[in-house]
Amino acid sequence: MASLDDSPALDVLIIGAGFGGCYLLHLLRKNGFKTQIIEAAGAIGGVWAWNRYPGARVDVELPYYGFSDPAIWNFFHWTERYSSDKELRAYFQHVATVWDLHKDIKLNTKVVCATYIEDSATWEVKTENDEIFGCRWLIAATGTSYKQYIPEWKGLSSFEGTICHPAHWPEEPFPLEGKRVAVIGSGSTGLQVLQATSKVCSHATHFVRSPNIAIPMRQRAISEDEWLAALHETFLVDPEINREAYDFWCQKTRQRIHNPVKRDILVPLDQPYYIQAKRPGIEQDYYESCDRENVTVTNSPIKEFTKTGLLTEDGIHHEFDIVIACTGYDAITGGLRTMNIQGRNGISLDEKWKDGVITHLGIFAHDFPNFCMVYGPQAPTSLTNGPVFLEIQCEFISKVLTRQRDQNIKTIEPKVEAEQAWRDRVLGLADQTLFPKGSSWYNGGNIPGKRKEFLLYVGGIPLYSEESEKALQDWSSFEIHHGR
Ligand SMILES: Cc1cc2nc3c(=O)[nH]c(=O)nc-3n(C[C@H](O)[C@H](O)[C@H](O)COP(=O)(O)OP(=O)(O)OC[C@H]3O[C@@H](n4cnc5c(N)ncnc54)[C@H](O)[C@@H]3O)c2cc1C
Repeated sequence: MASLDDSPALDVLIIGAGFGGCYLLHLLRKNGFKTQIIEAAGAIGGVWAWNRYPGARVDVELPYYGFSDPAIWNFFHWTERYSSDKELRAYFQHVATVWDLHKDIKLNTKVVCATYIEDSATWEVKTENDEIFGCRWLIAATGTSYKQYIPEWKGLSSFEGTICHPAHWPEEPFPLEGKRVAVIGSGSTGLQVLQATSKVCSHATHFVRSPNIAIPMRQRAISEDEWLAALHETFLVDPEINREAYDFWCQKTRQRIHNPVKRDILVPLDQPYYIQAKRPGIEQDYYESCDRENVTVTNSPIKEFTKTGLLTEDGIHHEFDIVIACTGYDAITGGLRTMNIQGRNGISLDEKWKDGVITHLGIFAHDFPNFCMVYGPQAPTSLTNGPVFLEIQCEFISKVLTRQRDQNIKTIEPKVEAEQAWRDRVLGLADQTLFPKGSSWYNGGNIPGKRKEFLLYVGGIPLYSEESEKALQDWSSFEIHHGR
């Protein structure tokens, strides 16, 4: 076990090797910081190291889902407009080679605790294997989707078939051919899984609690869809325009489903929630897949699992070999709250946020000196194209650390009033839109017992960047302590 003295071996320890962690490592090393990443997965890539399920794919057109460094994009040949998980893993290997990342990344290592040591103004980070790392700055680049969620269905443990969350799809995938498969959930992942499995399994049953207002991947080529895009700004704030957009989508999409029962479940005439109040999926042939003869679609809630399948509230028993629980994540805050990050006086992030999430700029937290979060709550995060936003946020963090070092500042942490002002700002902005009106992972509505509040900054990247830069001008929203 390594020990820690007043001069930690590392300047910066980053938890997580997704887009955020990898870019930070590259940037901070270039700026002279001794930096290391600790990553729980067996490969870099973040969510793309974990998500190997059939049909996994980005919903952002390339080349925008990637790093902007010409040394990376000039020498990687994407083969599809919307890249698959497999290609993204190959991309990350290319990134690792070009930026020489692997020498400073420890894979297969989960952080279980991080504690701020007041006397030395350092962080002590503990892993599952009882290793301890010391660092001056701690950065959680742990993403929004580390803590998977499967509901505690009655009887689940009695089910004798295979049950799998898409983020834990085995590297050696189990065959779906000839199998009876349940696809529970119709979020972005459920939609992709249904599209892929329905073509190979003997029968799929799709359990839909809330239909996905999914948009075709080809949308840029179709003039009607351009119309939808033009309405984008206003339909986020005006319920009538939102309804108009829904009616248009509804009319177009219902034509694609011949089975009237499936049509009413998947594309109801009554708008189920405001467009964008849940993250819309991007689909290829989702509606045609659901319409297939070998696919059943039901919105009857799951009552309980049995040895051979599951029973729904309408009294129907469904039998399965494989259940794919596309039931999402305790998103945005779940991973951060369970990692046991302890700031001053042993207060954990989980305790700090028990009456509501509170941060400064979605990056800093009072009582957590020299600690930053990347792609975290109260920042634009999931409302953006991830890699693009992450580059901007990582560059901001690198600037903070560099300025701190240049000005001989030992620690920074936000003032209590700055945090409160940021929380009010984030919630106030969201309240001007229709975003918080639904129940989704954007506001914790998908997790029983989770406090329901909107978790993202809706002002967009340019305004967010402006506000972040302003906060950095004179450190007035921070408590700072000089020294080495
Ligand atoms: C299936 C799926 C599809 C997506 N598609 C899109 C898309 O099309 N467009 C888009 O913009 N965004 C998409 N996203 C969001 C995606 O999270 C971001 O695009 C981006 O990957 C975020 O990168 P990140 O580095 O912040 O976090 P992540 O990619 O989530 O990486 C975080 C890393 O931290 C590690 N970690 C977490 N906790 C610990 C711990 N305690 N110890 C050690 N390591 C830890 C995790 O293992 C993970 O590798 C998708 C997400 C998922 C799950």
